[in-house]
Amino acid sequence: MTDPRLGIVHVHTHWSHDGRDSLPELALACRRRGIGFVGLTEHAEDLDASRWGEYVAACASASGEGVRLIPGLEFRFAGHKGLHLLALGLARWHEPATPAEFVERVAPDAGFTMVAHPVLTGHRVPDEVLAGVDALEVWNAAYNTRWLPDPRAVELLHQARRRRPAMVGVAGLDQHDSRNDRETRVRLLAEEADPLAALRGGRFENLGRTMRFDPAVSWGPARLGTLRAIRLVYDRIERTQDRLARWLAGR
Ligand SMILES: [Zn+2]
Ligand SMILES: [Zn+2]
Repeated sequence: MTDPRLGIVHVHTHWSHDGRDSLPELALACRRRGIGFVGLTEHAEDLDASRWGEYVAACASASGEGVRLIPGLEFRFAGHKGLHLLALGLARWHEPATPAEFVERVAPDAGFTMVAHPVLTGHRVPDEVLAGVDALEVWNAAYNTRWLPDPRAVELLHQARRRRPAMVGVAGLDQHDSRNDRETRVRLLAEEADPLAALRGGRFENLGRTMRFDPAVSWGPARLGTLRAIRLVYDRIERTQDRLARWLAGR
């Protein structure tokens, strides 16, 4: 039994060059984990207009038995290193050349848009992007923050929300292989026909291995300071574990 309120966002399959799962394999993993919807984000550079059409059809045919695979794309841009913009629930194929074009043309056509892993741009995101996307990925379970959200991304969200209170913070998975589940989830407050509309409206909470938090990430400076301190410790443990794993693998 899956929970229609429980979802994962920022997910790749083998339609991305670095993804492993087929869409049916991903759907099966979700059924086992009780996940009702998936906000997919394949690398746009790996697809084209005709492959996109096939992909959308494949998402529809792999959906069912309690799981909705929602097609979407992850865009990158020449001259903007690390700035990856996610469009979930995309109605048609797009090839934006610049972040401004993404905001103008892609965002109005998508169910939900996000700035992925802000750590990759050193937490610098152009104002036009902050003004035009729905969400910041304050926790990206693949990059810097397997265990805990990214405090600097949370600060960036707080700054952006001063200008645009509707912007939300999201815990993304950035999953490329469903065998490796880092367990970040979004859970809607109530069942809704369009889960992406619920995310856009902030009617959800973020869940992870160590904590849960609201889309505004309404923490004061004390809580953020604590998060920063704990993260230092966790990051060290993570690096040690990675080193140990590499050593055991003989690399
Ligand atoms: Zn990315
Ligand atoms: Zn990604």
